[in-house]
Amino acid sequence: MIRHFATPELRDTYQELAAVTVAQRAEEFTQKGRLDRESWREIADAGVWGLAVPTEWGGSGGTWWDFVAAPEGIAAGGRDLGFCLSMVAQAGLIRSILTYGTDEHKAAWLPRLLGGDVGATALTETTGGSDVTRIRTAAVSDGDHYVLNGHKDHITNGPEADVALVLGRVPEAGQQDITLFMIDMHADGVVQGPIEDMMGNRTSPTGPIALDGVRVEARNIVGGIGGGIDAVYNTISLDRLLYGILAAAYLDPLLDEVMEYAQQRHAFKVPIAEHQYVQGRITDAKFAIEATRWVSYGALDALVQDSDQASLMCSVAKYHAGETLKLGTETALRVYGHLGYMEGRHSQALRDALGTLIAGGTAEIQRKNVFNQMQRLGARAA
Ligand SMILES: Cc1cc2nc3c(=O)[nH]c(=O)nc-3n(C[C@H](O)[C@H](O)[C@H](O)COP(=O)(O)OP(=O)(O)OC[C@H]3O[C@@H](n4cnc5c(N)ncnc54)[C@H](O)[C@@H]3O)c2cc1C
Repeated sequence: MIRHFATPELRDTYQELAAVTVAQRAEEFTQKGRLDRESWREIADAGVWGLAVPTEWGGSGGTWWDFVAAPEGIAAGGRDLGFCLSMVAQAGLIRSILTYGTDEHKAAWLPRLLGGDVGATALTETTGGSDVTRIRTAAVSDGDHYVLNGHKDHITNGPEADVALVLGRVPEAGQQDITLFMIDMHADGVVQGPIEDMMGNRTSPTGPIALDGVRVEARNIVGGIGGGIDAVYNTISLDRLLYGILAAAYLDPLLDEVMEYAQQRHAFKVPIAEHQYVQGRITDAKFAIEATRWVSYGALDALVQDSDQASLMCSVAKYHAGETLKLGTETALRVYGHLGYMEGRHSQALRDALGTLIAGGTAEIQRKNVFNQMQRLGARAA
């Protein structure tokens, strides 16, 4: 049973803030292909990153229900899906530190992230993103440090990040060697970028991170040596449901706009909104938006309750997020007809939406996880 919903007052506050920050600069930063760090700073100053962080670590001591009001409001008011993807990456990183970090990690890294430093989580390599066990980035111990070498690809915020959680191996640990390292991106040996030339989400720059003999203090291992896979699977769950929450929030105003257009645009002597095929497209988008919103709330409830259904629910939310964003933005493009197909915000929205079929784990990987979780839960019940 769902016990909480995203806090409406907070959501409205962030929607208003995003309307005067993110939305105003989205076009400029799409052209530049950069993260809008000015809006990022303003959002950090408004306290977004501390919403679910205990007061002892500089946060406001709320819950993840308080936090999700921020991506909801910013998706609705900012009208920039790319900016939201960068936010998802930052939120996942903060949750990793809160869940798996020691007090020392929290004291060292949370003030920076809450204050507006940009974070990244770097798993994917040239060898592929779906099967993270194929990573080659590796560390060797050297006194109380590890020396890390490797190359990450397609990392959200990678070219801009100030800090990153990097997945690597510690071969000397034996078979269970996959490990998470917190890295200061300004450290010697870290090379960021160049920014990748993506078809959408250009305000959320992705790119490679090269690690060439980067010295990381052993105390900056998060979740213990060999604990990387469990920590990653657990913490990307939040990212997955956030995609669902922001998908619904982003599409709500878009569908309102589509309705308005359909009521004023005429064809065959009546508004196109009176044609049942048009109505059907609009209602199909509405069905998908509501299903995505509520399954994502359900996933968040499962996650904060530490339910054994959490991983399954978060993958269901992520799967619907990508499909719903594709359907919703395609619906807008279709209803606007040729105007929708022109280079501009509708075609850009569809290009942005397509990225969510891949980022955060592809649709196929969500199916795979859902099936695996069904087997696991079935075996447990038997
Ligand atoms: C906008 C964007 C942002 C990103 N941000 C980050 C980030 O912050 N950090 C990060 O680490 N990575 C990031 N990525 C990379 C992303 O995680 C990977 O692209 C994704 O996991 C898929 O990996 P791949 O591209 O290597 O495809 P592959 O893993 O090579 O897969 C190729 C195809 O095969 C399918 N496939 C693979 N295995 C299976 C299977 N077992 N069953 C069925 N189908 C399968 C996939 O679904 C896909 O269709 C981002 C990607 C995008 C597009």
